[in-house]
Amino acid sequence: MLIKDSVLGFILGVSREIHPREFSCQLRGDEELIEEAIVLPRTIYGEGFATTFMNMKPIDYSIIGSAHSHPTGDYSPSSQDLRFFSSFGVVHLIIRQPYKSIRDVAAYNNSGERIPVELTP
Ligand SMILES: [Zn+2]
Repeated sequence: MLIKDSVLGFILGVSREIHPREFSCQLRGDEELIEEAIVLPRTIYGEGFATTFMNMKPIDYSIIGSAHSHPTGDYSPSSQDLRFFSSFGVVHLIIRQPYKSIRDVAAYNNSGERIPVELTP
């Protein structure tokens, strides 16, 4: 999976900015490229990824997954994350503190397996 530099920069920047709260967004693109981060109303808040976000089904089919931050510094998915990942999409990103580079990003598929993610050349 590839991600545009500008999209990664945006996700890292917002994650840093709202730390220690969690950031979450949806991702738009196709099966090979993450092209855009979509921030939905009420998805920036402090009390955990799931509360609002998990109840929101993607609005359109160009939504290919999600991204959210882990203020803990651990980008392993929680059991709640795994349930959410399996509900839709092809790629889900978890961004860990300190949110500095792509090394702080882990990508998972719908089954919760780690998949490679790289910046677009
Ligand atoms: Zn999580």
